[in-house]
Amino acid sequence: MSKYIFVTGGVCSSLGKGVAAASLGNLLESRGLTMRMVKIDPYINVDAGTMNPYQHGEVYVTDDGAETDLDLGNYERFTRSPLSKANSITTGQIYQEVIRKEREGRFLGRTVQVIPHITDEIKHRIVTVGEHEGIDVTIIEIGGTVGDIESIPFLEAARQFIHDFGKENVIFVHLTLVPSVSEGELKTKPTQHSVSALREIGIQPDILLCRAERPLEESMKRKISLFTNVETDAVISAFNITTTIYEIPLIYSKQGLDGIVVKKLKLNNTPKKNGRWRELVSAYINAGKIVKIGIVGKYTDLHDSYKSIYEALYHGGIANKARIELLKIDSEQLETGDDIGGFFKEIDGILIPGGFGQRGIEGMIKASEFARLNNYPCFGICLGMQIMVIEYARNVLGRRHANSTEFDINTDYPVISLLEEQVDIKAFGGTMRLGKSETILKPGTLIHRIYGKDSIFERHRHRYEVSCKYHQDLKKSGLVLSGFTPDNNLVEAIEWKNHPWGIGVQFHPEFISKPVYPHPLFAGFISESLACKEQKG
Ligand code: GLN
Repeated sequence: MSKYIFVTGGVCSSLGKGVAAASLGNLLESRGLTMRMVKIDPYINVDAGTMNPYQHGEVYVTDDGAETDLDLGNYERFTRSPLSKANSITTGQIYQEVIRKEREGRFLGRTVQVIPHITDEIKHRIVTVGEHEGIDVTIIEIGGTVGDIESIPFLEAARQFIHDFGKENVIFVHLTLVPSVSEGELKTKPTQHSVSALREIGIQPDILLCRAERPLEESMKRKISLFTNVETDAVISAFNITTTIYEIPLIYSKQGLDGIVVKKLKLNNTPKKNGRWRELVSAYINAGKIVKIGIVGKYTDLHDSYKSIYEALYHGGIANKARIELLKIDSEQLETGDDIGGFFKEIDGILIPGGFGQRGIEGMIKASEFARLNNYPCFGICLGMQIMVIEYARNVLGRRHANSTEFDINTDYPVISLLEEQVDIKAFGGTMRLGKSETILKPGTLIHRIYGKDSIFERHRHRYEVSCKYHQDLKKSGLVLSGFTPDNNLVEAIEWKNHPWGIGVQFHPEFISKPVYPHPLFAGFISESLACKEQKG
C-alpha cells in the first residue's frame, strides 16, 4: 500500500511548492523508493487547456494528452514518476464527476454534499494514483495557500487520510515563508499563523520547509519548532539560491529531509544514491562556456510561460558543459524598424517557441528570415516550425502573402491551415492534436542524425498543420520535410538545406527533456550555437 505525503503552502503563493514537492520526490527515488506525484489545483477550470499563459504560465502536456499545470513539468524533470491525466486534479474535475453521478441517480436520493461526496471523490482520485503494485509513496501537492476558500475541501480530504490510513501512513509537509524586515531581521510570525490556520482544520504539519533569503540559524529553527510543535530537526531551511533549482534536493538532503520522511513513514531505509544528480548540478554550476540564446516569443514577460523550453535549454547547456544565458525578445518589437540584426548582435542561437494567436507573428517571421540568411542556429517549436514554413514560402517560394489561416483566413497561400480546411483529409475537425504520437524521420536528414533513429515519439499540442497541398512546392524549392506522421500525411519536422542548424518541429520536445536526460534536439541546438559563437570569435 502506498503511504501519503501532502505538501501544502502557507503565507503567500509563488514560494516554489512545485519544486519543493518535486525535490522531495527526487530524494525519495534516490533512496530506491517508488513514488507517484499528484498536483491538485483548486481552481474551477476542468483543466489548464484554456488558460492564458500570461496569467497562469505554460500549459504542460503529458503523454496521454492531459493539459496540466506547469508543476507537472517540474515533477517530470526531477523524478522518474510517470505522469498522466490522473496525476492532475482540479476542483472542476471533481465537481463534474460528482454531478455526473448525481444525474445518473447514483446517490439514491441522498443530499449530495461537500462532506462526504466531494471529499470522497477527492480521496478516491488520490488513492487510485498510488494503488498499483510496488508504489511506496504518493506525494500530493495542494495548490494555493492555506486559508484560500477554494482549497478547503482538499485540505479536509487530506485530513481524513490520517483518519482513514493512520498517522504512520500519512504526513504533512508545509512550505512557508520567513520574511525579513528592516535590517534583514527574519520574522517567524507569518509561519506561526499559517501553521495555526492548518491546525484549525485539524492538520498538524510534520515537516516545515521555510523559505527565507538566507539559511535559518539553529535558534530560529528552535523558535519555530516551539511555536508550531514541529520537531527542530524537521524545520528545514529553504533559503534563496543563485545557482539552479536542481540544487534544491541536495540542500534539503543535507539537512536530512529524506531521512526524516523515511523515519516518520517507517519506509525501507536504503542508503542514498544521488551521485548522478550531484554531478549534473556541479556541471551546471561549474560550466565554463557561455551560450546566449535569443527566444523570440510573444509571452516573454512572464518567465513561467515558456518554463519547459527554458529548462530544456539549460539541460542542453548541461550536455555541453555550457552556461545558458536567455535573452527574451518580444517578437512584436521586431516588427517595427529595419535593424533586426541589432537585436541579435550578442546572440549565438535563435529559438522560436510555440504560441497561439496573431500578435507578434510578423516579428517571428523576420527573426526566422534573419536566422536563415545569416546562418544562425534556429530552432522552431510548434508555432515556431509553422513560422519557419511561412517565412520560407514567402521569401524563397515568392508567395508574398503566404500565411497560416490562424492569422489570415483570406490568405491566397494558406501554407498552414486546419485539417478541415485542407481538401484531401477530412477525418479530423478543428480539434487539438494532443499528447504523444509517432514521427518517422527521413534518413539522411540532420534531425535523423541527431536522434539516431527512424521512429520517435513526442508530445503534441496544436491544431494547425502544414497544408498537404503545398508539400510538393515546398520540397521543390528546397525546404527539407524531414519528419512525417506514420501515414505520411502530416509534416512533423522541417529543416533548412545548406544551413548549419535550422530545424523546426511540430511537436514539443521540451516536455520530455530532463537534466539527467537532456533532449537530443536541445543538446544539438546548444552544441551548434556554441560552435557558431566560436566561429564568430
Ligand atoms: N497555434 C498553432 C496551432 O494551433 C501552434 C500551437 C503551438 O505552438 N502549441 O497549430
